[in-house]
Amino acid sequence: MSIKYEQRDNPSPNENVKPSSQCHPCSEYEKIVGSSIVEELRLLAGKLQGKVIQNINSTSVGGGVAEILNRMLPMLQELGVDARWDVIKGGEGFFNVTKKIHNALHGKTEEITPQMFEIFMETSQRNIDEMKIYGDIVFVHDPQPVALIRKKASMPDAKWIWRCHIDVSTPNKPVWDFLKPFIHQYDSAVFSAPGFSQPLPIRQFLISPSIDPLSDKNKDLPQEIIDKVLEKYHIPNDKPIITQISRFDYLKDPIGVIEAYRLVKKRIDCQLIIAGGTATDDPESTKVFAETREAAANDADIHILPIPSGSDIEINALQRASTVIVQKSLREGFGLTITEALWKAKPVVASSTGGIPLQVSHKYSGLLCHSVAGAAFAIKQLLSSPEYAKRLGENGREHIRQNFLLTRHLKDYLLLFLCMYHTEDVVYL
Ligand code: UDP
Repeated sequence: MSIKYEQRDNPSPNENVKPSSQCHPCSEYEKIVGSSIVEELRLLAGKLQGKVIQNINSTSVGGGVAEILNRMLPMLQELGVDARWDVIKGGEGFFNVTKKIHNALHGKTEEITPQMFEIFMETSQRNIDEMKIYGDIVFVHDPQPVALIRKKASMPDAKWIWRCHIDVSTPNKPVWDFLKPFIHQYDSAVFSAPGFSQPLPIRQFLISPSIDPLSDKNKDLPQEIIDKVLEKYHIPNDKPIITQISRFDYLKDPIGVIEAYRLVKKRIDCQLIIAGGTATDDPESTKVFAETREAAANDADIHILPIPSGSDIEINALQRASTVIVQKSLREGFGLTITEALWKAKPVVASSTGGIPLQVSHKYSGLLCHSVAGAAFAIKQLLSSPEYAKRLGENGREHIRQNFLLTRHLKDYLLLFLCMYHTEDVVYL
């Protein structure tokens, strides 16, 4: 079967993606994490002189992977590492299939037909034919571009790493079995947390993601900017604001968020913001957005906001304007929105799924929930105990400072790249 292989918003393969953000000098990070950490980064980066790191993923816009690459690339470049970023090309049919594969890897029931696997392979083959591999280290992110490993023979000295951002601990078996032969050919695989991975005959590394504290998404904002953003979206500041920022995706459960809000609203007057955009590799989002709007009905206190990509200051402002931040995902990768919320010292209510429990210790740095009723109960608790909520937020910020900032992530990646050239004493899982 022949499928349409169209250009979406992605640039052509090998038109290197230009990260949307500029870089901050390392000295700025020293103020946050201390000078010894930055010194260590310089030392490690120096050992990668002359190596090209080629990152490959499926979208330059939307979602956690693009978010991280947009921050990581400029910083690696600032440290003198030649890191570049390419995006595979695919049409709607391909991205429909990869979305199903993504959901299935998260353990969601999805029927993936042989014809769908054919679509996946057909587009993969086009990318294999067209994408130039030039990296000394080829860093392939997530399942969409996984089949590019078939080009390994064309660059026999290159080190290939598969970076999986998904929790694949309970995958749909046929989908995992389909991907496994590709993954096994990589030199190494990276997962975000110990519980996310699978036994593999290749080296595995565990590296959790991060946020950049100096990015527009996370930097401190003056109150006037926060007020202006609220004004722009017609959100009054006269009652508590509960917020979920996410792509419009079933797994983010925006309807569940509305249900939880309705339970809270019976007791405490409040308003709800559900804000997010779409990713170019996610064709489902328009439908989810429409369904979320419908579920909100005509409640003037529910604000469903479509946020165009690149609106980082707006997202930052909405997070900072919030009384409680929610992430009621049914499944989650790492959950960077929670990292962002905690860095802003916000009290959070989040599902105990994916990477969220690594970030939220229940009753210490936020509240975990397992259902709509549980989310509503936790939100009520935070709204009615501001001192408690403040303490959780402050604990959360410190936890993020220690564990989930860009500097720690960079160090892990630099060590990972260096490890590719040190393969002795390897223990396979
Ligand atoms: N995000 C964004 N715009 C949106 C929705 C999300 O910039 O409309 C960002 C969000 O702030 C976070 C990332 O995209 O940095 C989402 O990462 P997360 O790990 O929470 O979820 P994913 O989308 O990767 O499943």
